[in-house]
Amino acid sequence: MLCRKKNMKHYNIPIFVPHKGCPFDCVFCNQKHITGSNDDINEEKIINIIEEYLKTLPKQNCIIEAAFFGGSFTGIDFDMQRKFLSTAYEYVKNGKIDGIRLSTRPDYINDTILDQLKKYGVTTIELGVQSLDDDVLERSTRGHKADVVYISVELIKKYGFNLGLQMMTGLPGDNDEKALQTADKIIMMKPDFVRIYPTLVVKDTYLEKMYLNGKYKPQRLDEAVDLCKKLLLKFKEADIDVIRVSLQTTDEISPGGSIVAGPYDAQFRELVESRIYLDKFSVALGSFKGKDAVIYVNTKEISKATGSKKQNIKDIYDKYKIKVKIRGTDKIKKGEFYLSYGVESEEADCI
Ligand code: SF4
Repeated sequence: MLCRKKNMKHYNIPIFVPHKGCPFDCVFCNQKHITGSNDDINEEKIINIIEEYLKTLPKQNCIIEAAFFGGSFTGIDFDMQRKFLSTAYEYVKNGKIDGIRLSTRPDYINDTILDQLKKYGVTTIELGVQSLDDDVLERSTRGHKADVVYISVELIKKYGFNLGLQMMTGLPGDNDEKALQTADKIIMMKPDFVRIYPTLVVKDTYLEKMYLNGKYKPQRLDEAVDLCKKLLLKFKEADIDVIRVSLQTTDEISPGGSIVAGPYDAQFRELVESRIYLDKFSVALGSFKGKDAVIYVNTKEISKATGSKKQNIKDIYDKYKIKVKIRGTDKIKKGEFYLSYGVESEEADCI
């Protein structure tokens, strides 16, 4: 098994198989817009994509996987899966990449499929779980119930693949409580990593119709940030990597692209992590006696700790009437902080 080493840089070579193999139409999905690609993929294109990426990626001290994303890979015609996989597998065999990963639906997993994936060097399988609430799954026309997810996860683990689980927030019929329960159930399944996607209303989807007819109300940005904060903390506590929060920005998934409504922000994850810092600062500042404070954080986390447009500094002042300066030091781990009275310490050693 290819292990996800936390301190080793990981690169995916994305090969999109938009809507190939998926006869379903989940209300939120228009893979053409979500992946920003509607080209049909073939072996020649796969080779070109891998070659182009390999020119730009480091050759050592990193893990590189060819990643079949979009659509539902294991729903593609079985022979076509084999052609795509064997093309990428050549690069595994010659040592240019470390493995192959793919994303698929939970109900497109069985022994025959997994046998083939194993044979052709697949290392990581990501399942689009989205929710583990049957009502939410039904209203999102996912075409399967939650129980399928547990069966597929068990099978994938039995074969020894790395397992990623994707969940969404703000789907039709969903709420914070259900999303937190979904996270708890995901944690119980012990995936190697998780992705969290707040639902966006994308052009040419059924969700767009529901939204325009007043039958669907998207999460507000602040609501989605607040919920994702709770989810991120839950997964962190369970020591499960969250490798992405929100869809990747593309020409389509960006202002002026195909987003009709929903909690989009290009820096969504940073907003979530800023909010986590604000909560931690608030607890410490609740008993702070001074009027000026210096908060030391890891140098790489200054912008998160300060918040977008210094929002955290402003919020702290509004709530506690304390003027805060954020300073960076390498002596503090990411996510941690040290609070001192308003004299900046040269001696970060004491931290
Ligand atoms: S299963 Fe995946 S690819 Fe298929 S419609 Fe749903 S979200 Fe889109």
